[in-house]
Amino acid sequence: MTDLDEVFRLLSDKGGDRYGGEDVSQLQHALQCAKLAERANASDALIVAALLHDIGHLSIDDEGLAERGEDACHELVGAAVLSRLFGPEVTEPVRLHVDAKRYLCATNPRYRERLSPSSVTSLRVQGGPFTSAEAEIFKENTFSDAAIALRSWDESAKDPKAETPGLGHYRAIADRASQGWRRGRLILVVGPSGAGKDTLIAAARDRLADDPHYQFPQRVVTRDSSHVREVHDSVTEEAFSRMTETGAFCLAWQAHGLSYGVPISVAAALSQGLTVVVNTSRGVVDAACDRFPNVEVIHVTAAPATIAARLHAREGLAEGDRQGRVERRVDIPRDRARVTDIKNDGPLAQNLAAFLAAVTGAAVGERS
Ligand code: FE
Repeated sequence: MTDLDEVFRLLSDKGGDRYGGEDVSQLQHALQCAKLAERANASDALIVAALLHDIGHLSIDDEGLAERGEDACHELVGAAVLSRLFGPEVTEPVRLHVDAKRYLCATNPRYRERLSPSSVTSLRVQGGPFTSAEAEIFKENTFSDAAIALRSWDESAKDPKAETPGLGHYRAIADRASQGWRRGRLILVVGPSGAGKDTLIAAARDRLADDPHYQFPQRVVTRDSSHVREVHDSVTEEAFSRMTETGAFCLAWQAHGLSYGVPISVAAALSQGLTVVVNTSRGVVDAACDRFPNVEVIHVTAAPATIAARLHAREGLAEGDRQGRVERRVDIPRDRARVTDIKNDGPLAQNLAAFLAAVTGAAVGERS
């Protein structure tokens, strides 16, 4: 599902279904939840998250599943359905709204006592209250507060007599919240080590430094930053896996024995309609296409002799390592993302022009 019309159609067509074991329909529950968010002066994104937090229930037929001891993971289904339309400000509170219940049950006895019988039933299949270690990980997530707020509206949105605005009112808010995300472009710069990606990215970043439409975020890498040209945030393996658990990355992968992560703040920049340029592995293009609506690839290559010479010039790289890096091949899914190929052998100025054209030229097309 990629279209906002389809999401709203689903809500109006199937919204008459009963909301779990409660005395309200799915649509009443959704509208009440959104109204509570709006009344609390929540952002457009969080109002939309409140409205659509149970869209996963309507996308899959999970009626009665919890009573039979099964969990359809509606929060994951919902977040996936919405990810083409909205950034993490919407999808993360949706994805985390069950975790928020598990967190609140672990940390707030009064909350647990207030749960309705059907919410208690679903809690059991959802894994029960968090352990204290799980609760800590949840609390470190950037979106945990938003998910907790959503959860409190979720619990209160079960009043059969409550009056709410209609779906049309929230459609306008959803259109606003979706706009930037659908315009934002994620440009993945890929290619073998030694092809000169960092040089091109650094030069393009300098050239576009005054243009607020472009961001060149730093990656998080598990290596010492003092010996390499790329400026990055250096962390230990332990810190990296903690960051992974707490949702600090929107993309992560491993290469050459190191772990790499693209910070979740990149997704926030995309939600504002910006163009984000980041050096990644060819292996993450598929995952990025699953997660972001507009992924483009700049594939930087160079002649084997050029690459070998550049790698040779780098410190501390053994012969075997160099061979491995030169020969590593992963196909780019060219059917999923627009790919610009740049052969980076000749003068930098010429190759930089091609690189900048790929970064900015397409942006002009997108905005027209
Ligand atoms: Fe709900």
